[in-house]
Amino acid sequence: MYILALDQGTTSSRAIVFDRDGAIRAVAQKEFTQIFPQAGWVEHDPQEIWASQIGVASEALGRARLAPGDIAAIGITNQRETTIVWDRRTGEPIHNAIVWQDRRTADFCERLKAAGATDVVQSKTGLLIDAYFSASKIRWILDNVPGARARADAGKLAFGTVDTWLMWKLTSGRQHVTDVSNASRTMLFDIHTCDWDAELLRLFGVPASVLPEVRSSSEAYGKASDALAVQGVPIAGIAGDQQAALFGQMCRTPGMSKNTYGTGCFLLQNIGNTPTRSRQKLVTTVAWKIGNRTDYALEGSVFIGGAVVQWIRDGLGFVRTAPEIEALAASVADNGGVYLVPAFAGLGAPHWDPYARGTIVGITRGTTSGHLARAALESIAYQVTDLLDAMQADSGIALTELRVDGGAATNDTLMQFQADLLGVPVVRPAVTETTALGAAYLAGLAVGYWPSLDAITGQWQVDRRFEPQMTRSAAAALRERWAAALQRSKAWESAAG
Ligand code: ADP
Repeated sequence: MYILALDQGTTSSRAIVFDRDGAIRAVAQKEFTQIFPQAGWVEHDPQEIWASQIGVASEALGRARLAPGDIAAIGITNQRETTIVWDRRTGEPIHNAIVWQDRRTADFCERLKAAGATDVVQSKTGLLIDAYFSASKIRWILDNVPGARARADAGKLAFGTVDTWLMWKLTSGRQHVTDVSNASRTMLFDIHTCDWDAELLRLFGVPASVLPEVRSSSEAYGKASDALAVQGVPIAGIAGDQQAALFGQMCRTPGMSKNTYGTGCFLLQNIGNTPTRSRQKLVTTVAWKIGNRTDYALEGSVFIGGAVVQWIRDGLGFVRTAPEIEALAASVADNGGVYLVPAFAGLGAPHWDPYARGTIVGITRGTTSGHLARAALESIAYQVTDLLDAMQADSGIALTELRVDGGAATNDTLMQFQADLLGVPVVRPAVTETTALGAAYLAGLAVGYWPSLDAITGQWQVDRRFEPQMTRSAAAALRERWAAALQRSKAWESAAG
């Protein structure tokens, strides 16, 4: 028997078959259409999300030569916050999915902040008011699709994040559910009581009738319908992508942290069973609920992570492929005093400066493309270190190691530099498909495929461990220069008028 993970991401749908050792048996992936109706708007077609997801599920089973009867359970992990509203009777979406990146509700969110809603929202949801989260997107759909609000008030519409939509489709509309980790990203969910909150629903103008039932992250929610490639298989795990990755990295105890080095970086730290409120402009989120136990996490993101490597490749043309940056960076002994702050789209946590812009400082006549490549790589590690400092200040927990995954985590030079800056080991696991693995684990645990959490914790294996080699004083000196470069990048746009 095997476990099938459905990993519904922002740009592609993937399906991965895992065996009892947590090893990958088959993978299938399909990209789908990104829709940009206006500047700052991003949509997906919910039917295309579903078609691509069930398509890759079938393909992955075919590649592994498996039938539905060989699959013990399905786990779902998904792009978070993306908002879909559909008709309960026909199952037809009434609008395209509004993707997490979409900024159309930014003005509404600014008005809420100006009206003083920040405190109530943060104290209940752990989140900072932003267009990113689902609540203002639901409101937008109800206010802009003709007749939608009346139909919602009459109980005829359903809202869901992508997990909920996939579950609805998998069970032919029998299940309208989500899990606590996805619910905690809607901005309508009280993470202390683990329930939808009437005051927040009022604030965002969302009727309770559209909401899914909130369940734990690991339980049998229902079975896939007949006539599907996965017919009869129980769906038994759900978690948002970053929380699933934290679980797949087996960061189960307070202080354990993972960073995903993708286009941006996503850093999450397990903070145990109490949702500490951030004083550092990070967000507090539900990590998962298993049985009666709810774990929480602090989360922060870096906007430009691996994307700075893409810029070195495509914008400057210094390398042909992203991995080549490692050799170019190794062509120089050190950064030669050059610092690159990739604030291409402003700075995220813990700085939050939308007016910051990219900056390169310290260039001399001796500066080469190698120094720039090195400064670019190093900038990723500096940003993650700043974020981790903020996290430790919030949680009061000192980091003992950082577990890593994502495309840029394959870069050994970057990982070594990260360990040097942090002063703790950076650990790269053997299976870097941690998001899908986390969803598979949540599902397999619920159906007894794996006997216990401890059994799967023992499966997590190290590919490589990067020990800090730099002296602490050398690391501090570098970070001081980085902080000075950061200052020069801040408030650039407004300063330029
Ligand atoms: P996403 O899920 O955000 O699409 P991935 O986890 O696939 O991202 O990682 C892709 C990112 O990693 C790209 O921004 C790319 O520039 C970067 N990347 C890939 N390989 C390397 C490498 N060897 N060194 C540095 N960066 C890399």
